[in-house]
Parts: sequence; structure tokens; C-alpha cells
Amino acid sequence: MKIDLHVHAKERSGCSVSGEQEIIASARARGLDALAFTDHERLVPASRLAELNRLNAPFRIFSGIELHTAEEEDVLVFGIQDPRIESMHWPYEDLYRFVRERSGFMALAHPFRYRDTINVDLRKFRPDAIEARSTNVPEHAVARIIRTAGDLGCAMLYASDAHRAEDVGSFHVCLSSAADSDFALVSLLRSRTYACCALSD
Ligand SMILES: [Zn+2]
Ligand SMILES: [Zn+2]
Repeated sequence: MKIDLHVHAKERSGCSVSGEQEIIASARARGLDALAFTDHERLVPASRLAELNRLNAPFRIFSGIELHTAEEEDVLVFGIQDPRIESMHWPYEDLYRFVRERSGFMALAHPFRYRDTINVDLRKFRPDAIEARSTNVPEHAVARIIRTAGDLGCAMLYASDAHRAEDVGSFHVCLSSAADSDFALVSLLRSRTYACCALSD
């Protein structure tokens, strides 16, 4: 199952220029089987998520979220539908505990995008994965991200961080089997039985 785990729709992310259906159509045209909307501090409401899945089946839409922490790191979270997560400025350590207590999956998004340090203690509060390629990961940071993930024993993730339909899927992961629920998606990601892919590969 080819899935793009980092996509912004303009319905919830003011910085995105494309709407949900335009993004989904682009993802399908590009051969993806699924995507996760990870809007800034906003989940896809459950009723809308069900509707999108009904309208686009068998294509699958998941809801994740991207959070900007108090330390100015960005974190993608999957497998959590509790609206209390939709908060600005989580201290990273509190977010880590919130996600762990609910068996969610968390990935550090585009580290080293704005500076060459990471402002949180990843060794003590290790994310499940680190985003190594996306449209917002600078080329010069890739080698350092791979090294950081290796040092920490974190998985790597490729995702588009698309803010417009034509970027969806540019980077994505190929899961070893199809996920039909948040639980299945998180289990597959946790098992690390996926490949990191670029659409140009
Ligand atoms: Zn954005
Ligand atoms: Zn993003």
C-alpha cells in the first residue's frame, strides 16, 4: 500500500492551496493507495473522515496531525483521534507522554529545516520515526537526518509535506500490506516493514 503520510489540505491548513478532493484526485492519479491529512494543529473531524473514505473508496484517507511544539520542532502524530491533541505549543515532553499513553505513532518532521540543531531531547524521548525526505527537507540536511536516525535507532519516513495537489506522493512509503484502520496503520509503521520511496524512483 503506497501512502503519503504528510499532506496539508486548505480546509484546515491556511498555508495549503489545494482542497481535500483535489489532493485525493492527484494522489490517485499518481498511483497512491492512501494518504494521511496532517494539518497544522487540526484533525480531520470523524464525520468528514468517514465521508471522504466513503466517497473515495477503495482509496483510504487517514487523519494524522502536525504539531509545532513549544521548542519549535514539528511532530507528526498518527493513530490518535482525541481532540485534546489539537493544541498549539505542546511542550515536546508532554506531547510524547500523551502519544505514548494512547499508543500513537510520532515522527519528527523536517528536522534541520530552519537551524542545524534539534531543540528537544530525542534520546530520552525517542520518536518512532524521523522524516528524512519531503518537499520541506533541505537537501543539505538529508545526510545529517539519516545519521541522527541511525544514532537514535529511529525509523525513517519519506512523505511529501504537500501544500498543493501536484506535490502529493512525491515522497511516500510503501507498506508491506494494506491498512484499513488507524490501528493497522500504526502497527505497520511500528513494525518498520515499509519501504521509503520517491515518485521519481
Ligand atoms: Zn503548512
Ligand atoms: Zn507539514
